Amino acid sequence: MVKSRLSFKFAGCLVSSLILNLLFIINIYVGGQWNLSWSSRAAAEAEAVAATSCSGHGRAYLDGLVVDGNTEPVCECNACYTGPDCSQYIPHCMANADGGDPLFLEPFWLQHAASSALVVAGWHRMSYSFDGSTYISKELERLIRKVHALVGNAVTENRFIIFGTGSTQVLSAAAYALSLENSSSPAGVVASVPYYALYKEQAEYFSSEKFKFQGDANAWKNKSDTSTNMIEVVTSPNNPDGRLNKVILQGPNVKTIYDRAYYWPHFTPITAPADEDLMVFTLSKLSGHAGSRFGWAVVKDENVYNRMTIHMQLSSMGVSRESQLRAFKLLKAALEGEGRELFDFAYQTMKTRWERLTRTLSLSKRFSVQKINPQYCTFYNKFREFSPAYAWLKCEREEDKDCYAVLKEAKIIARQGNRFGSEDRYVRLSLVRSQDDFDILIQRLNKLVSEEDGAKIM
Ligand code: PMP
Repeated sequence: MVKSRLSFKFAGCLVSSLILNLLFIINIYVGGQWNLSWSSRAAAEAEAVAATSCSGHGRAYLDGLVVDGNTEPVCECNACYTGPDCSQYIPHCMANADGGDPLFLEPFWLQHAASSALVVAGWHRMSYSFDGSTYISKELERLIRKVHALVGNAVTENRFIIFGTGSTQVLSAAAYALSLENSSSPAGVVASVPYYALYKEQAEYFSSEKFKFQGDANAWKNKSDTSTNMIEVVTSPNNPDGRLNKVILQGPNVKTIYDRAYYWPHFTPITAPADEDLMVFTLSKLSGHAGSRFGWAVVKDENVYNRMTIHMQLSSMGVSRESQLRAFKLLKAALEGEGRELFDFAYQTMKTRWERLTRTLSLSKRFSVQKINPQYCTFYNKFREFSPAYAWLKCEREEDKDCYAVLKEAKIIARQGNRFGSEDRYVRLSLVRSQDDFDILIQRLNKLVSEEDGAKIM
């Protein structure tokens, strides 16, 4: 009797709890839409900051500085603009063409604010690992494979994928993984000149017994000493000159890292899916989110993959789960619809910039930039020009040995050729920065060229 009364009471509780839950769900899910509760404050905060007017020459951020007594973040202005709303132009300021900050993609994300925004709950993935075993979001890995398949720029079937804190960390993991475990002498790390300085800087800074920077790959091509273990970094497209570099060194003691950071339709014709043993990519140059510090490698060999995984474990215990979440959301947004919009935007922007730059310099005898023949692009199904991330500018006059100084005089900050293992007659100009930076660069170059003897007036 007591038992049946108890079970009756229990059944009653269950029914009322079900009804309450149902009412709760009906209450928050009205007309096919969630009636937001805890996330609405975050959304309101994000939109309030986004609405701060910075005159199109700056931006306010949720974690930006606030002025005393105010809770609103202030505008962070682009170079050459100042004032509380960034509306004041600073005449005669330096045009910054240094650094590879890919802000050329910012307008795309402003247009795709809704599909790319995220709310990160306070309890989001607090654990050291996903499901107690891995540092890698499987869904993000799946999206990365999908992006490569869509673009056709890399083979990922039957390959391992490893994540890093930017490709910067992935590159150092690769160098450790490819250096021999029990070798008495360090492997030589080489890259062909002009090369991206990080390879040299990392090898020198980490000053490992496992590897040592040995300069220009070309200098090792015909060396008789074939017993030295070598690691060649092939940057393709290359930073700074945008060329689709090919491997220089071959042989049983040579291992190769392909830095494919720029192998996207934004910058180059996609000639074929890359299918190298170890390929490195980065979100920085795909979506423009350099600040999220997210890169990955596509790896054929399981041993190399395992050794890279150990490196990630020991150096940072994997990539921040917030970065992985962000990368996941951004790639998902980029893949919406036919998934081509991001690439079309990026290609058009870089193409227009390259055309403006080369038009300006076509009037010059003093300066020249790299010329690369068009190639067939399997992504656009047509022959197309390169639209490189950087201009590799040469000062042609005999006396202009220090091209950096020549440009600095004309109020342009470039990057010296010697940073790329090259002569200082060359500099690199970044074309991926914000539209303001690019516009000011073109203004300064126009002026410089128009002052040349015998130059035609534009
Ligand atoms: N490789 C190349 C060729 C680069 O130009 C860069 C960035 N400028 C990187 C790697 C590193 O990029 P990140 O660490 O942002 O992925």
